[in-house]
Amino acid sequence: METLSGFRRTGYCGEFTIADAGRSAGVCGWVQRSRNMGSLVFIDLRDRTGILQLAFDESSPPELLQKAASVRSEYVLAVSGTIRERASKNPAIPTGDVELAVTELRILSAAETPPFEIVDNCLTNETTRLKYRYLDLRRPVLQKNILLRHKIAKITRDYFDENGFIEIETPMLIKSTPEGARDFLVPSRLHPGTFYALPQSPQLYKQLSMVAGFDRYMQIARCFRDEDLRADRQPEFTQIDLEMSFVEMEDVLSLIEGFMARLFKEVLGRELQLPIRRLTYRDAMERFGSDKPDLRFGMEFFNIDDIAAKCGFGVFSSAVGSGGAVRGLCAKGGFKALSRKEIDKLTEMVRGIGGKGLAWIRLGEDGSVSSSFSKFMTEEEMAEIISRAGAEKGDVVLIIADGKINNALSQLGAVRLEVARRLDMIPKNKMELLWIVEFPFFDYDQETDTFVAMHHPFTAPLDECLEYLETDKAKVRAKAYDLVLNGIELSSGSIRITDPVLQKRIFALLGLSDEEAQRKFGFLTDAFRYGAPPHGGMGIGLDRLVMQLLECDSLRDVIAFPKLKDASEPMTGCPDTVDQLQLDELHIKPAE
Ligand code: ASP
Repeated sequence: METLSGFRRTGYCGEFTIADAGRSAGVCGWVQRSRNMGSLVFIDLRDRTGILQLAFDESSPPELLQKAASVRSEYVLAVSGTIRERASKNPAIPTGDVELAVTELRILSAAETPPFEIVDNCLTNETTRLKYRYLDLRRPVLQKNILLRHKIAKITRDYFDENGFIEIETPMLIKSTPEGARDFLVPSRLHPGTFYALPQSPQLYKQLSMVAGFDRYMQIARCFRDEDLRADRQPEFTQIDLEMSFVEMEDVLSLIEGFMARLFKEVLGRELQLPIRRLTYRDAMERFGSDKPDLRFGMEFFNIDDIAAKCGFGVFSSAVGSGGAVRGLCAKGGFKALSRKEIDKLTEMVRGIGGKGLAWIRLGEDGSVSSSFSKFMTEEEMAEIISRAGAEKGDVVLIIADGKINNALSQLGAVRLEVARRLDMIPKNKMELLWIVEFPFFDYDQETDTFVAMHHPFTAPLDECLEYLETDKAKVRAKAYDLVLNGIELSSGSIRITDPVLQKRIFALLGLSDEEAQRKFGFLTDAFRYGAPPHGGMGIGLDRLVMQLLECDSLRDVIAFPKLKDASEPMTGCPDTVDQLQLDELHIKPAE
């Protein structure tokens, strides 16, 4: 192997243009491919910026030509020579007008044949690619994503710095800060039987930074949540975390709007129309069946509770009778795609998420009307439903009835998304941002029959709801807000409680005894006794933000070293067993 000694790199492969013709250049990189045509050898050399063609021809000394012919894919080279205009140009790549006529070639590292080809449209399965993530990451598309992620992080730091925020690092080994998920725990060696938790977010430290008087905090913070992974989750993820003092909700929202506008401009080259649209939680549920509706398409719900209550169809009337709801949507032009068979599949999906079924009306192009429930209804009732749905020839109306309003709405919300996918109604390239405000403060957890905080217990209730805290929990709304992009929750935040008495009252309502509250959160309520400024903030999921801005399908496309769905990492093989000695030091005995 040769060394770099005395070699001078003058630029990156992807940056040469016709303006450089005639200049001498030195570049380093990996061999994408080589073509040996006897007296001519061409090598495509790749680095993080792109590809440059290296040319060796009759004018090259025979040893150089021979050496060039010996390199294989993924060899690491340092080459120098003169940039010249190509005889046959390649418009497909930015450097396609030029090539490097090589006079010096150093082979810095040989390479075995990689387990998969380093190309964008690599079909090798993901587990193999993650096992060799350093090779997977060489693919241009991932290089581009990680570089853009860096750019987004840089814009973030600049934006918040310009707005008076300072970056404060909060600890990784902390007392558990519950945000509604399971903690990753770290056993303490020095304090046998005790544990640190890895932060689910820096929530309490950022609030304490406000009590400490830092006024505006931000951090690109790593957060850990030990949850069963879904497609859009990772056990560790990155959050743009921020907190501001002496602000109300409008201040936080307008700061974030400025941030999003900046990102749109600098990353996508687009103007973001401000202010960002807002919906209350209730409106979002009523109209779209979700607290993170995808507004790239319409398909709003209609309400037939009044017709259902009086009609002869028991499924409808009993749903309304027991305090529930009957709601529907109109799939415009869905007649062909939503055949009876396809509607059966949608019905199965609804059952899979706890629903009872799906009622439907299909309006044929020829004026025919068929329905799963018309025999229970009068003609006037059917006509009224079709009119409320705004349905015309060629449309399909889908209706859900459930004894609980939110169940009916969220089931129909899932149908709305699925229908949009099937009818190809979701425009690519559209970015629909949306604020959801006025979240309920409490969420009822059926499993444990308790009330939990929908956002987190440090969120302030709306002032006008304080009087209902003890008496009517369903009425209490919070000073909480979420930012949604294309149906994905990008971030959430709130104005916080700063009154120690109110904070204790909330802990009690969430089922914490005074002692427990003091033991777990006494440091926070104590801090509030020493002068706490009103404050609020947000956490913006950086991984999701990058994924959305770059229009990637998976978080794994924007995280350099992600984990698989089962939370393992095939490259290093973690999680892994550890030596007995390490366990002994940590006072850990395996369960018998
Ligand atoms: N800590 C919250 C979260 O991680 C964000 C916030 O309220 O600022 O979702």
